[in-house]
Amino acid sequence: MKATEEKLGSVKRFGARYGRKPKLKFSKIETEQRKLHKCPYCSKTAVKRVAVGIWHCRKCNAKFTGKAYSVNKRIIEKEAAELVEEPAIIKEEIEEASEEA
Ligand SMILES: [Zn+2]
Repeated sequence: MKATEEKLGSVKRFGARYGRKPKLKFSKIETEQRKLHKCPYCSKTAVKRVAVGIWHCRKCNAKFTGKAYSVNKRIIEKEAAELVEEPAIIKEEIEEASEEA
């Protein structure tokens, strides 16, 4: 699997709509939202999102509040920052190729 395909994941359901950049960003957030998170109480990776900001640990049965798409804030902000850099590089490559032709 190529790196770009891996990043799209669940966003494939949108087909060709909405553009690449917003879809990539959405993909990152949705992946974070859906994956199992680490429980702050029992430290097991068994926490699932119940609703916006509500998280439930399947191991110790704890139900608690967190961020809307993640248990803690840090992860999403870091990955979103990395993502902004990437499409710019690809755009430059395309522009170079069109100049040669
Ligand atoms: Zn737990």
